[in-house]
Parts: sequence; C-alpha cells; structure tokens
Amino acid sequence: MRRNDTIVAVATPAGVGGLAVIRLSGADALALALKHLSVETLQPRNATYCRFDDLDDGVATYFPTGYTGEPTVEFCCHGSLYVQQALVQALVDSGARLATAGEYTLRAFLNGRLNLSQAEAVVDLIDAVTPAQHHLAVSQLRGGYAQRLKELRQQLLDLTSLLELELDFSQEDVEFADRGQLHQNLSSLSSQVTRLVDSFATGNALKQGIPVAIVGAPNVGKSTLLNALLDDDRAIVSDIPGTTRDTVDGLLTVDGITFRLIDTAGLRQAVDEVERLGIARSRKAREEADIIVEVLDASMGLDVMSDTSHDDGKKHIRVLNKCDLIPEAMTADGKLLGDTLIVCTAAKSGRGIDRLKASLVAAADVRCRQEVMLSNVRHRDALVRVGEAVTHADEALRGGLPADLVVVDLRDALYHLGTITGEVSSNEVLGNIFSRFCIGK
Ligand code: GDP
Repeated sequence: MRRNDTIVAVATPAGVGGLAVIRLSGADALALALKHLSVETLQPRNATYCRFDDLDDGVATYFPTGYTGEPTVEFCCHGSLYVQQALVQALVDSGARLATAGEYTLRAFLNGRLNLSQAEAVVDLIDAVTPAQHHLAVSQLRGGYAQRLKELRQQLLDLTSLLELELDFSQEDVEFADRGQLHQNLSSLSSQVTRLVDSFATGNALKQGIPVAIVGAPNVGKSTLLNALLDDDRAIVSDIPGTTRDTVDGLLTVDGITFRLIDTAGLRQAVDEVERLGIARSRKAREEADIIVEVLDASMGLDVMSDTSHDDGKKHIRVLNKCDLIPEAMTADGKLLGDTLIVCTAAKSGRGIDRLKASLVAAADVRCRQEVMLSNVRHRDALVRVGEAVTHADEALRGGLPADLVVVDLRDALYHLGTITGEVSSNEVLGNIFSRFCIGK
C-alpha cells in the first residue's frame, strides 16, 4: 500500500441516502478536487457551495491537515448511488486511487494523529449502539484510558532509566536505586496493571452487554418474562414444559446499561437429545452470567424464602412470577434474603417488570463506577504480559540478580505496553486492526 497516493472513497454508508460524503486525502487532494469543481480555489476549513463537473451541486470543504493528517477535501453530494460512483470514478480518472478498508485511519495513525488504541476506539465508536459502548469508546479515544497508559509507561521508564544509570557506572559497583524502594515501586506498578486487567471483565461486559441468565423450572414463565422485558415476542411461549429448548439472546438497555438476557431451557430431566443439549447450554449460560434471575411460580405454593445463600460471586434476583394468581404473594416484593432480592411479577400483564429492570440496574451498578476500563481483548492480552514482565523484574530484584537482568524484564514490559498504543507494531497487527474498518473510514 503506497502512502504517497491521494486516495478517494465514499465515507458514508454504502447505499442511497439524503446525502453522501466523498473523501479525498493525500498531497494532491486539493489540486485533484479543483480539476472537477466549479470554483477557482477552496478556502481552508470553509464550506464552499459549488458544482462537481456536470454531475451534482454540493458542498466542498478543504482541510490542509485533515483527519488523516494530510490535505483532505470532502465533497458532500446528493446520496444517489449513481452520483457517488460517478464522482469517485472522475477522481480516479484524474489520478486518485481507491482507498482500502481503514486506510484513512491507518494514515491518521502513521501520521501521528492517533495512537493505535485510539484508532481501535474509532471502530468501537462507529460500532457503538448503546450508551455504555459509546462511553467506553470515547474514553478510549480521548479520555482517562490513554492517560493511565501514559502514567504506567512513565513509571516503567523512570525505573528503567534509574537501573540503566547504574549499569553505566557498573565498574564502580554503585547502587543508585534503593532496592527496597524499587521493590515498592514495582509492586505498586504490578497492582496498577492487575487492576486494569481486572477491569476487562466489566469493560467487556459493558461493551457486549452484562450477561443475565433467566433460570427456573419449566412453565414458571421465563419466556413470558423475557418477552415482557424485551417488549416483543422473541422467545416462543407455550404451555408444554420444556419448549424453550435453546438459549434465547435478547439485548435490553436500561439507564444506559445494556444487558444480554439469556432465557434458558428448563432445568429438568431431559427427555430427548435436543432438550439435553438445551439443558447443557443453560448450565453454561448460568456459569457465564453475572446476574442470575431465578424465576419461581407463585401459584405453586413454594417456599420462596428458602435456600438463598450463594457463594458464586454473582448477583441474584429471585422473581416470584404469576402473582396475579396469588395476590398475597405480593407481600414478598422487595424483601432481601441474604444476597437475594425478591421481585414479584405478573409477566403476562407486565406488572412488576419496571421494578425488575430497576433491580437489574442496581445489580449492575456497583460494577460500573470504575473510571478507566479495559474493553479490548488485544489490550488485555498485552497488559497481562506487562504484568508478567513486571513481576519477573520484581522477582529478579528480590533474588539479588544484577541490574542488567532486571532491566531486560522492564524493557519487555515497556515493549508490551508499547504494542497497545502502537509505539511498536508489526504489519500483521496493523493489518488485523485496520481490516475491521470499512472502506471510507
Ligand atoms: P417457561 O417454560 O418458564 O418459559 O414459561 P412460559 O413463559 O412458556 O409460560 C408458561 C405458561 O405460564 C404460559 O401459559 C404463560 O402464558 C403462563 N404465564 C407466564 N407468566 C404468567 C403470569 O404472570 N401470570 C399467569 N397467570 N400466567 C403466566
């Protein structure tokens, strides 16, 4: 891929729309654009209404240093497919090259406008459909996340240079750095890295939706409850026990937090192979969930107050459904049994559903207060390696190993940290990351 070419692509989604934006980037962007525009020149950063050949009227804007860090011209035209394609073709005929997927953002990265983790955040931002995803992407793009990585890097650099200074004077057998203090710094660094790595579970859950398993015996109303929560007929509701044979996913967003709801096949003795598979899946869903919604049928005369202690690290909500059949069951509503909250519902009529939603938010809330959160698997993996290298360095130090061996580990930690922001990167990694982009971004 040549970096000096002037590249062109439609920046808006493929298809017909009210408007479309054609983006031209590279050293010749302005000259190329002017060959086709009905104006002599374009003032930097000013929208100019003009005609593009005989094809369309629209608005052209010239950025001496655009998103890519290069001269960029954006032409906003009518969103006809014919117009879009003809405009792009005209620019290609004049010497521009079609941009490849993610090439604009790749250039922004190569030109130092974005670091690698910010470039990845751009994809996340484009893909975001929930407030939580948006928040994570924006924080990674410009917020505390980059700052935290910077701080970690600085601490690592300080430690490394201190030890390297010692190496410069190795003939004289001096120790500049107090070993006790070094050890303290390293273990502080290590716990900062661990905290960040641990935040991945939350960051990822927020990004993908916090997994919620809806469990309970057949026919208690799990599917009806799921439909009431999702407000549609996603799961098949029937009177025949065991009909929800598969796990059903549905996304529910309440107060900006997204939940991934999984209705599970009734946990009962399987009567056939399909159901057996469904039950195995339901166990797995339960294991993977952060929040367990256990549904009971109020009309079954069960003791809802029984067996409520858990040590699985998950949040538990016990839903007493079909309260319309046994109105006195409502007295249990809002009671807390150990770590389990009781919510009474009549899923069929929608009663209690709002309270259940609020309880889900409350169960998730504690985990969402962290400021800086990791939500990218690649970053998590890199940080795990940073953590390992820091631990090694600390062990080497405490084992009385010479400074040069400790430095090797610290350099290793710096290397892995650098892969996150792209100070070190390989073509393979870049290819992987930018192939996730669409053409025109
Ligand atoms: P699942 O097997 O746990 O998924 O249960 P379903 O959602 O398929 O419901 C089983 C039956 O209970 C269906 O006939 C539902 O209409 C009925 N049902 C579900 N919720 C309620 C409720 O709140 N009140 C009453 N009276 N019936 C309900």
